[in-house]
Amino acid sequence: MVVLGLGTSGEDLALQLLDAGLEVAGIEAQLVGGECPYWACIPSKAMIRSGNLLQEARRVNGIAGSAKVEPDWSLLAARVRDEITGNWDDSYAVERFEGKGGILARGWGRFTSPNAVAVNDQVFTARKGIVIATGSTPFIPPIPGLAEVDYWTTHEAIAADPLPESLIILGGGAVGCELGQLFARFGTDVTIIEGSNRLLSREEPEASEVIMTVFEDEGVTVVTGEHAASVSQSQEGINVHTDAGSSMLAAHLLVATGRTVDLSQLGLETAGLDGSARFIEVDERMRATEGIWAMGDISGKAMFTHVGIYQSTIIANQIMGKSQLIPDFEALPRVTFTDPEVAAVGITEANAEEQGFRVAIALKQVPSTFRGWLHTVGNRGIIKLIIDEQKRVLLGATVVGPNAGEVLGMLSLAVHEKTQIERLRSMIYAFPTFHGGIGEALGAYGRGTGKVVDPTYETSAYLD
Ligand SMILES: Cc1cc2nc3c(=O)[nH]c(=O)nc-3n(C[C@H](O)[C@H](O)[C@H](O)COP(=O)(O)OP(=O)(O)OC[C@H]3O[C@@H](n4cnc5c(N)ncnc54)[C@H](O)[C@@H]3O)c2cc1C
Repeated sequence: MVVLGLGTSGEDLALQLLDAGLEVAGIEAQLVGGECPYWACIPSKAMIRSGNLLQEARRVNGIAGSAKVEPDWSLLAARVRDEITGNWDDSYAVERFEGKGGILARGWGRFTSPNAVAVNDQVFTARKGIVIATGSTPFIPPIPGLAEVDYWTTHEAIAADPLPESLIILGGGAVGCELGQLFARFGTDVTIIEGSNRLLSREEPEASEVIMTVFEDEGVTVVTGEHAASVSQSQEGINVHTDAGSSMLAAHLLVATGRTVDLSQLGLETAGLDGSARFIEVDERMRATEGIWAMGDISGKAMFTHVGIYQSTIIANQIMGKSQLIPDFEALPRVTFTDPEVAAVGITEANAEEQGFRVAIALKQVPSTFRGWLHTVGNRGIIKLIIDEQKRVLLGATVVGPNAGEVLGMLSLAVHEKTQIERLRSMIYAFPTFHGGIGEALGAYGRGTGKVVDPTYETSAYLD
């Protein structure tokens, strides 16, 4: 097998195939392991942990005593460099791959025929097949002046040292919100510019509202409904002018406007595939064509590590002749690691309505759940359940709140297993837990006991 791109999903597949005894050539232009361990999920979540610790310490005041918090970015930067990414060194990953017998070719690979890939002056011919996993790169919008300034992508943000004094972030999606809050918690003056009328615009509007309120409280400036129209460099820093006439100035500019896939350099035409497409089209078994599979960000599904790894197992199972796993993306989970976290699975209320479902909603404010009320500071959030009224199953769910990504676990299972709402209502929820809020949203407990502990407690399930 030839694996083109040994990033997050490519490395995972290559190791599975090597373990199964196949001969594997892996072609990687940059770091074995790809985005996730060096520039994305892993360092960003380690950094966010530091930011959250700072904020939790600030919450001591008035609740448990007093705390004076003095952020020190150099500790975080050193941890990212030395512990998390090993100074962006992939020797461990290379040794693991080669230790299992993998043949590593460093360089930009390109198809030369349906079963061969050239890299530098070598050509690898696959007897069994080729898997394309070349990932995505930051999308840089065509804003006048942007190309002339020294802007950051997520790579520069992750490796930032020292802490920027001020930062404008273009894009209020997951990455812009996560990094914006993090930098602000360390003391950077952060402005987020988001073209749509709310942050995290793909998530439920109630989730955006919570994050907006939290950002306001934490001093993050958020400009919504305006697009950057031009960018210029001055002696003071980088200036951004919006289509609504606003101007902002900061020492640095982070472009976090999404990711894009460029297939044009992969020689796909020689393999009968379309190199001008936005993504590589795959069938339900991740096959782009006979003997060629594609996975990860280039496959046009959601761009998440857990999606790439899920797809890699689907491909590995086929190649190794194990039981066939057909992809099922109905219960696709996603988490934005702001504080509070925004965690969602399945479809939103708007999606469900567009798709013609008869929808019922159960909505609960986290501060009015038992645990949320007890938790006090830092308890903002919501639990929103999207219910198919006909089949009485969950179509989707959103949890915003402390540990929302963990609370999401049982909702992901419920969507995946198409669990009846009656089953979710009749199960036992440990008291008082954040996941117990799901039971409260469904009116499963607290109802009819006559004991309303929290004066703001009310079940707002609009469900019969
Ligand atoms: C800041 C940030 C935070 C994120 N956080 C999360 C998170 O918390 N959770 C989550 O699930 N996802 C997260 N993601 C998304 C996640 O990182 C990606 O979805 C995932 O890494 C994609 O894996 P991949 O295998 O498709 O590609 P990649 O990991 O990008 O690997 C592709 C590899 O292919 C190589 N390559 C490309 N072209 C060629 C070529 N022609 N020849 C040889 N090599 C080539 C590249 O050098 C690269 O190493 C985050 C992304 C960002 C930017």
